[in-house]
Amino acid sequence: MTVVPHVIDGEETDAVHGGRFESVNPWTRVPWAEVALGDEADVARAVAAARRAFDEGPWPRMGTAERRAVLHRFADLLLAHAGELAQADSSDMGKPISDLLEREVPRSAHNLRFFADHAALAPGAVFPMDSGHHAYERFEPAGVVAAISPWNFPLMLETWKIAPALAWGNTVVLKPAEESPVSASSLARLGLEAGLPPGVLNVVHGFGPESAGEALTRHPGVDRVTFTGESATGRAVAAAAASHLAPVSLELGGKGASIVFADADLDGAVAWSIRAAFSNAGQVCLAGSRLLVEASVLDEFVDRLVTAAESLVVGDPSDPKTQLGPLSSRQHFEKVVGYLDDIPLAGGKVLTGGRRDGWMVAPTVVSGLGPKAPHCREEIFGPIVPVLPFEDEAEAVRLANDSLFGLNAMCFTTNLSRGHRVAARLRAGTVWVNCFFVRDLRAPFGGVGDSGVGREGGTYSREFFTEPKTVMMEVDSCPAGF
Ligand code: NAD
Repeated sequence: MTVVPHVIDGEETDAVHGGRFESVNPWTRVPWAEVALGDEADVARAVAAARRAFDEGPWPRMGTAERRAVLHRFADLLLAHAGELAQADSSDMGKPISDLLEREVPRSAHNLRFFADHAALAPGAVFPMDSGHHAYERFEPAGVVAAISPWNFPLMLETWKIAPALAWGNTVVLKPAEESPVSASSLARLGLEAGLPPGVLNVVHGFGPESAGEALTRHPGVDRVTFTGESATGRAVAAAAASHLAPVSLELGGKGASIVFADADLDGAVAWSIRAAFSNAGQVCLAGSRLLVEASVLDEFVDRLVTAAESLVVGDPSDPKTQLGPLSSRQHFEKVVGYLDDIPLAGGKVLTGGRRDGWMVAPTVVSGLGPKAPHCREEIFGPIVPVLPFEDEAEAVRLANDSLFGLNAMCFTTNLSRGHRVAARLRAGTVWVNCFFVRDLRAPFGGVGDSGVGREGGTYSREFFTEPKTVMMEVDSCPAGF
């Protein structure tokens, strides 16, 4: 069994109270790792180490070029250890190994490189004043950052948080999800090898409520909380952080609508909708988990969708051909199966898919559900997609916006004006027109409503992870007009 320690102040360490918990491989359904079980005491040690590294250590005071070099070395090491990192996430939560090797590990390295470069190259504004003064802005590191991540994209979301935090000179305490803890300790080890000073990146394992997660959000020594997870958890995190006025960035759940107009390129719309609904077995905040299709092409679209869904390879995540692995845990599988069982009660019909052996659900397409069915309103977080018809553009936008969530939406049309018009009317943090999942890390990322608070990416991350400061200078040797 793999033993997974915390990493605090540059040292691998057991939990203060000696506890451990198991990580179960959802494909074999057998525990494969024993992980340090952190609590308030471990969090106190990690925050103290991060505080020392911030107040006294070299990291916040280093030039950006030096920090950039360390973070690029860190990215190189991630790629050099891609096999080990991919194996860890796949064994923890069942993700197909090919997704990890082809996409997530490279994207994690890219997160580090992008934010390292962005911080090194970012300009600050100067505000010349007629009075013979000028003001300029400085972006100073905020301090100790608490980063709390979910299990669905472990390494990718951990690096999405720690990369901008570190690039802007902060120190970090990372609390990975209890379902996917293993790669985080490897990440911290590789960070040390790359040259992060001790205490700059700490990892504490444990659970959420009344455990390491809650202790971290309540700790008064934490200056920023960046959280990704469920909307209900986001509320608890925001309340805890409010007790010591730490700003929060919350990236929460979603119920993305994919709108397919009759004038769409149906081949493209089917291919993107399949990816949106079923990648990572539907365990994606950005999933296109409601398909709205113009009535005149509904039958043709659904036929093609069902054929494409049935061609996906479901099975052992360690097989490079597998496209959907098991759901991440027994508890999560039971939640998703609950939704499957309720489909007939809600008036729906399963056109393809359903439950398989183990903790597996095949790509499932459902017709006949109304917009008020729980399957169309709640985040199932599994490979189940209801298809609903609409008559015109106004109805499509109304149905898409009829949600508490507002993370993302997709629109498929060959009408350029309609693409822009619908994108403007959708209540969502990101709208993809004729595509899905394409990202530019300079662009704002986040959601409205129950999908989150704040934006990250590019300058949005800079503003969250720094304390912008104004410096006002008298420049009387150079009066205005000369
Ligand atoms: P979760 O909210 O159950 O847990 C997320 C993390 O929060 C874990 O590390 C957990 O230990 C911790 N946690 C739980 N309760 C806590 C508390 N009271 N205080 C502090 N920490 C606590 O979410 P999950 O099941 O791991 O992840 C799935 C959810 O994440 C889905 O809702 C999904 O949509 C969302 N998500 C959102 C984005 C995004 O970018 N918006 C990305 C990925 C996942």
